[in-house]
Amino acid sequence: MAYQAPLEDMNFLIKDVFKIQQTLGQITSFEDFDDELYSAVLEESAKFCESVLFPINRNGDEQGCSHENGEVTTPDGFKQAYKEFTQGGWQGVSGDPEYGGQGLPKTINLLTEEMVYATNTSFCLYSSLTSGAYQAIHAHAKDDVKALYLPPMLEGRWAGAMGLTEPHAGSDLGIIKTKAEPLADGKYKINGTKIFITGGEQDLTENIIHLVLAKLPGAPAGPKGISLFLVPKISVNADGSLGTSNGVSCGSIEHKMGIKGSATCVMNFDSAEGILIGKENRGLFAMFTMMNLERLSIGIQGIGLAETSYQLSKAYALERKQGRNGNGEFTSIIQHADVRRMLLTQRAYTEAGRALTVFMGLQIDQQYHHSDEQTRDQSEDLMALLTPIAKAFFTDTGYDSCNLGLQVLGGHGFIREWGLEQLVRDAKIAQIYEGTNGIQAQDLLVRKVCLDKNGLMETLYGLIDASIEKAGDTEIELELRESLKVVIADVKTITEWLKTLDSEAIYHAQGGAVDFLHAVGHMIYGWMWLEMLNALDSQENALFADKKRLAAEFYTKQLLPKASEHCRRARSSYASFVTADEELI
Ligand SMILES: Cc1cc2nc3c(=O)[nH]c(=O)nc-3n(C[C@H](O)[C@H](O)[C@H](O)COP(=O)(O)OP(=O)(O)OC[C@H]3O[C@@H](n4cnc5c(N)ncnc54)[C@H](O)[C@@H]3O)c2cc1C
Repeated sequence: MAYQAPLEDMNFLIKDVFKIQQTLGQITSFEDFDDELYSAVLEESAKFCESVLFPINRNGDEQGCSHENGEVTTPDGFKQAYKEFTQGGWQGVSGDPEYGGQGLPKTINLLTEEMVYATNTSFCLYSSLTSGAYQAIHAHAKDDVKALYLPPMLEGRWAGAMGLTEPHAGSDLGIIKTKAEPLADGKYKINGTKIFITGGEQDLTENIIHLVLAKLPGAPAGPKGISLFLVPKISVNADGSLGTSNGVSCGSIEHKMGIKGSATCVMNFDSAEGILIGKENRGLFAMFTMMNLERLSIGIQGIGLAETSYQLSKAYALERKQGRNGNGEFTSIIQHADVRRMLLTQRAYTEAGRALTVFMGLQIDQQYHHSDEQTRDQSEDLMALLTPIAKAFFTDTGYDSCNLGLQVLGGHGFIREWGLEQLVRDAKIAQIYEGTNGIQAQDLLVRKVCLDKNGLMETLYGLIDASIEKAGDTEIELELRESLKVVIADVKTITEWLKTLDSEAIYHAQGGAVDFLHAVGHMIYGWMWLEMLNALDSQENALFADKKRLAAEFYTKQLLPKASEHCRRARSSYASFVTADEELI
């Protein structure tokens, strides 16, 4: 069974729903680009992903990575595919032209990234971590460091890796032990061990640029005493040529449930030389540039895998004959209502998530490139609110979608042959890394709602209200509008209650954080469906429009109502489980 990139949907989103050419055309960096170019880039990416990455996905899972004498070997085919990926310029698609990037909008890059995740998640992670490291260096390093390190990263000759986690420090980075000592020449000596480092070692690139969190002597305890360092695997000479090995070594790789083609490494830093990025003790702030983009990227992993799951399970449901329909005829399983429920659930979540991805891509492009400060600030605020939602909601619904895809195939889904069980295993990790989804929910509830001073939720309600105002009056639009109003009222009630809580009550309210995030996620997806319905009038392909309407109706009747249930459950600080003695749990 094959994967076909959802180009028609992507083009619908960029041209009809969000009209990105209009918005991006106001930004100097993008004023020369148009829809035609955007579509051509998506088409090229689709060809590469369908013909190069998808065929090596299964082998990547079965063969996995291996580790011998400190060296990691990626699965057969990955090296050649990586060469083609970088030669095609895909690593630098949205990179700064000053450093050799192609300067395309992030909005387009997020869609190409979806295709890479959809066809080969393990492969995608090598590139995605490099993009994140590129962004952090671009935003926080000095000019000479940028000039030395960014061009080979955008070319794909050097990769990036993110070194946060230690054996005893995962969600709680404030307790890391890796040490940095200042050297006479202004550099730093790094000592410590990091675990679970994606692409910490691999055989795809000439060098690996590790962004490592470490503590300086006398640094304050906790998150406020962490600094960020750029630590190359092989030291880099002033002219950009490679020097000697820099005390960075891979101790072992993990054997794990999924993403087996992605090397997950234990990394040892033995007096490795590093360069400070950003200010001393402000490492988490600098790292958040990387982490926020990585969080959205990992969210897109959920969407990409869910799209593949939908496509594979639909193809199977059309072919597989079991049981009889209402007229007593022997039929394909796609006729059965329960199988339709599973297929439409996948599509309704995936397409809404893709729409939100495009909306967020536009916010990133505005935040980093718009000339108007107010627009930049508003986009930054929206990204602060939407990032934890996208990371957790895309990946929770993505994982559930892959599970539903597997279920559509019955017993055949459980065996390897059809590829659905790999999708489930590959999707699971996205709920865990880049900050677990529980931590994302906490970030939303505590920082973006309880402690918020910028009226983030009010901005969101304003956008949804505007969408409701301009909605058409077909039956489904009317129903979605009315249902959304009910959900917004429920979410507002919870939000207002959250804002009244003191710190102890906020700690207890975190028992309802995941439900709160799912309530807001469902509300936002309802908004995305309304935006898509609004844009259908100009749609020439009647089948495409009918498919959208059916999924919108399904979302409105079957999935959106979950939001109010999540709101009810979000008031968990009154529930006994939050305060009961440990032995009762
Ligand atoms: C395959 C893989 C790749 C990875 N890649 C990288 C990488 O490239 N770089 C990197 O630095 N790290 C990486 N990680 C690490 C990953 O980010 C962490 O595993 C993750 O952040 C969770 O940390 P932990 O595993 O220590 O779990 P813990 O922090 O021990 O959490 C365990 C459980 O407790 C919950 N919990 C923890 N604290 C709280 C709290 N305050 N309130 C409520 N609940 C809480 C969590 O949600 C979770 O359910 C990777 C991990 C894996 C498995």
